Amino acid sequence: MKVIYVDNNATTKVAPEVLEEMQPYFSEYYGNPSSMHSFGGNVAGKIREARQKVAALIGATPEEIVFTSCGTESDGTAIRAALESNPDKRHIVTTRVEHPAVKNLGETLSKRGYRVTFVPVDSEGRLDLDYLHQNLSDDTAVVSIMWANNETGVIFPIEEIAQKVKDQGIVFHTDAVQAVGKIPMDVSRTGIDMLSLSGHKLHAPKGIGVLYIRKRTKFAPFMIGGHQEGGRRGGTENVASIIGLGKASQLAREHLQARGYERIRKLRDKLENTLIAKVPHALINGDRQNRLPNTTSIAFEYVEGEAILLMLNEYGICASSGSACTSGSLEPSHVLRAMGVPFTAAHGSIRFSLSRYNTEEEIDFILEKLPPVIARLRELSPFWKEAVRAQSSKLRA
Ligand code: PLP
Repeated sequence: MKVIYVDNNATTKVAPEVLEEMQPYFSEYYGNPSSMHSFGGNVAGKIREARQKVAALIGATPEEIVFTSCGTESDGTAIRAALESNPDKRHIVTTRVEHPAVKNLGETLSKRGYRVTFVPVDSEGRLDLDYLHQNLSDDTAVVSIMWANNETGVIFPIEEIAQKVKDQGIVFHTDAVQAVGKIPMDVSRTGIDMLSLSGHKLHAPKGIGVLYIRKRTKFAPFMIGGHQEGGRRGGTENVASIIGLGKASQLAREHLQARGYERIRKLRDKLENTLIAKVPHALINGDRQNRLPNTTSIAFEYVEGEAILLMLNEYGICASSGSACTSGSLEPSHVLRAMGVPFTAAHGSIRFSLSRYNTEEEIDFILEKLPPVIARLRELSPFWKEAVRAQSSKLRA
């Protein structure tokens, strides 16, 4: 069965060009980049090249790029480094819709005596900027706000926020794991001090990430060890993955420059516009104006997201739901809860996230299969029957 993969905010396929670039660095050129001999030295040269390519994608200089193991490590390192560098300050500001990499760290730090402010969002997932600015104080060590939300794709005005935060002398970090490669960015023209990205969200392998650290930002390493990454992250480099991320960054930059995301946006818009036209009680979660071009989160009211996913799976369609089924509780996600999405909608929310590898035929296939799936599940749903009954008695009244 052909797989229709529309779960690219979860992870992406490694691009064939990336894999090809990486392959020689496992068993042919396996030297340690720190070695004195040229066998290792050549590898160091390839890492330098990769660093330049990653830097070019986000508008940084190569010296500002630190390779890590993943987005989670980059996020944690940034926040902890800001706290360690400002030991007199005990306040952290973040949002209620962060990825667990930041949200759970914030909750952990609040149990360890830090004061943590979680800025709310409105029903469209837009950040309450007044609340954010009113809560900054002399005690704030770091503000960490995601650039784009992984569930809804909603984009926050990071450049504007970063500048205001910087003007108050507070360290600003952004989790840009979902934004990098999907929207153009130039960190050099912003007040961002630190930025996280992750390879596996942009067609590089899993297990490689980056922390951008602006020049002259006070920093304390989390991984203390050798002199790698300019002493900012010890540990022998993940050579092949770094080289893969370099290639993936080059491809992402070319794709952005060629406005390749316009095709993805059109496919996404076709998918969501057709679904909301064809399926009654289908709603888009999140601000449609400021969204990643590849993401849509659609609530199919009165059905269970997990049931939809299982039925889509039968057709080879891979998407995500808005419930944390892994917890066994089927709790709607913290993001949809923070937006105040009603229970009956949050439970039936499905996220589709596209990539440059998706085709129009794939979108048409989803559009053919999904509406009957929702109709079938609604026939079985007591909530749907109740809603239909309520609506018809309202019409009769
Ligand atoms: N931040 C965001 C917004 C994400 O979507 C993810 C992954 O889903 C992460 C952080 C964590 O990245 P990684 O899987 O590389 O640790």
